[in-house]
This record gives sequence, structure tokens and C-alpha cells, in this order.
Amino acid sequence: MSKQSSSLALDVLGLALWIMFIGLPLLLWWAAKLFFRLLRLLWRSPQLFSKDIRCVNGHKNPAIGSWKCSCGAVFSGWAFAPCPVCGRSADYVDGCEICGASLLNPLR
Ligand SMILES: [Zn+2]
Ligand SMILES: [Zn+2]
Repeated sequence: MSKQSSSLALDVLGLALWIMFIGLPLLLWWAAKLFFRLLRLLWRSPQLFSKDIRCVNGHKNPAIGSWKCSCGAVFSGWAFAPCPVCGRSADYVDGCEICGASLLNPLR
């Protein structure tokens, strides 16, 4: 065995150790982060795509309808869809059918 090939073997061993002790934990950490992000998205999605939105007091209201943006534009569809005029989505809309309270954007 020449001197060069033995140092190459050392390099391979070093690389293997690096992968085991740094690369693998990093990969696992990244995978776990991705997993929890996905889980959170799944957790939130029933709310996001639900036809109901809740007021601050918990009453159910339809999320599809005709809405007035703070810029003055009136549009129909999902309450928190981006406004076709100014492009912003509302933080909340008025008002609950039962108590008149604000309906909060589940995305915020
Ligand atoms: Zn607007
Ligand atoms: Zn209410």
C-alpha cells in the first residue's frame, strides 16, 4: 500500500465519521423540522379551507360571501382571500351574525 492510498483511506474514514456525527444529526434535525412544519400545516388546514370562520366569541359564521376590504373594494369569495384591488387580505372582517363581533383571520 502506498502512502497516498492510506491517506485516502483516512479521508474516507474521516468523511464517514463526519457523516455519522454531524451530517446525520443535521439531516435528522432537518427532517424533524420539516415533519413538524407539515404537521402544523395539517393542523391548521381544516380551519384554512373550512367554510366556517369563528368570531372572537366562538360563533360559527360562513366564510364565503360578499366582503368589504379596508381599501373600500367589495368582493365575493372567501373572507380572507387577497383583495382584487389592493392585494391585501384582511386581519378580520365584520361581523358575527350572532353577536356582531369581529371574525378573525385564521392565518394571522
Ligand atoms: Zn383592498
Ligand atoms: Zn359571535
